[in-house]
Amino acid sequence: MKFKIHRGTKEIGGSCVEVWTEQAKILLDFGMPLVEKDGKEFDFRKYKNMNSDELVNKGILPNIDGLYDNSKNTIDGVIVSHPHQDHYGLINFINDDVQYYLGEATHKIIKLNNLFTPQEVYLKNTNYFEKSKKFKVGDISITPYWADHSAFDSYSFLVEANGKSLFYSGDFRSHGRKTKAFYWFTHNAPKNVDYLILEGTTITRGNKNNKTEFEIERDLIKLFEQKEKINLIYTSGQNIDRIVSIYSACIRANKIFVVDVYIATILKELSEFAKIPYPSKEFKNLKVMFPYYTSRRLKNEGNEKILYQFKNYKITKEEISEQSDKIVMIVRPSMQKDLENINGIECGNLIYSMWEGYLKKSDTIKLIDYLVNKKFTLHKIHTSGHADIQTLKKIVEAIKPKNIVPIHTFEGDKYKDIFNEPIIKLMDEEVRII
Ligand SMILES: [Zn+2]
Repeated sequence: MKFKIHRGTKEIGGSCVEVWTEQAKILLDFGMPLVEKDGKEFDFRKYKNMNSDELVNKGILPNIDGLYDNSKNTIDGVIVSHPHQDHYGLINFINDDVQYYLGEATHKIIKLNNLFTPQEVYLKNTNYFEKSKKFKVGDISITPYWADHSAFDSYSFLVEANGKSLFYSGDFRSHGRKTKAFYWFTHNAPKNVDYLILEGTTITRGNKNNKTEFEIERDLIKLFEQKEKINLIYTSGQNIDRIVSIYSACIRANKIFVVDVYIATILKELSEFAKIPYPSKEFKNLKVMFPYYTSRRLKNEGNEKILYQFKNYKITKEEISEQSDKIVMIVRPSMQKDLENINGIECGNLIYSMWEGYLKKSDTIKLIDYLVNKKFTLHKIHTSGHADIQTLKKIVEAIKPKNIVPIHTFEGDKYKDIFNEPIIKLMDEEVRII
């Protein structure tokens, strides 16, 4: 068995690992980069009109023979670890014959992103795997392990062929709401794998332990208990752990939780996979608002039925205004027009609940400025989607790999200071024989 990391040995984002034997070839993830070569934020709009040859030349698409051309397909399967764009975002360039292996909920989220965001990623041939159930692509066996991560439906993979093994961590942590999945893994981990390809996103932050998602919930309750204030939260609609934390804090502080039609749709679609709140009789304090731009887009694209399915749980701008001290509402920059039409919401709390790096984005700045001008107090309540150093050490202890390969990190050089196992620092595209 051989493998190479196409991208990720020296950066976070755009992960892609190729693994092959004499008989079969697979890719683990096919992500969009998060940074340009000069370290600036990656902006795909710059490359939108280029074809796959041009994108390969620019180093945006990995150079893999036959991957983009139907007549020459050589790839037997693309395995997707989780529905974050930096792990699947370039799939649309892959030829139509390729088979995809992914979680069913991951596919659902990718389809919802096509509906609500500018992305267009369509997977033609899908095979849904289940946690801990081994499947084969040619002579390569893959076992998905359910992971605690900020994306819903995330996995790590054990890959085995010809008596050799590698373990691809994907993105994971132990301080989210699926802590149990992590500790189950530490007790049931495959042992003595030849190579552990290990993410190191948060190594820059040193030995600091991450706050747990339950501590986030506690911090939110404290804010929500302040009297006579509306609470607006800017968070990712796809960070389901966080949305559950907010919902639980609302229950404890007796608040009405308002989500918009985008988040309502995600919650409803994912409720068949996990016990999460969604607009229904069962979750009485969960209400849906219909933002101007999202509603217009759904109507224009013939998707009115998505709007109507939540009509029984609708909350109007007037109703929000009348009981603003009882409201906790998720907002995002495109909803500013809607906020302008809600009367009497000055002096509230604005909770920023995402990675601090996004604070530099111009639309984020605009939203925050608008609300701070309305005398809102800005609070930052967040925890990472990625493992801290203690957790990285625990997974290494559980797997006892013969070698560790850094991926999804800017700090590959620091691995040798953290782990006792041999660290193999690869270059992007460097072939390794196991
Ligand atoms: Zn991720």
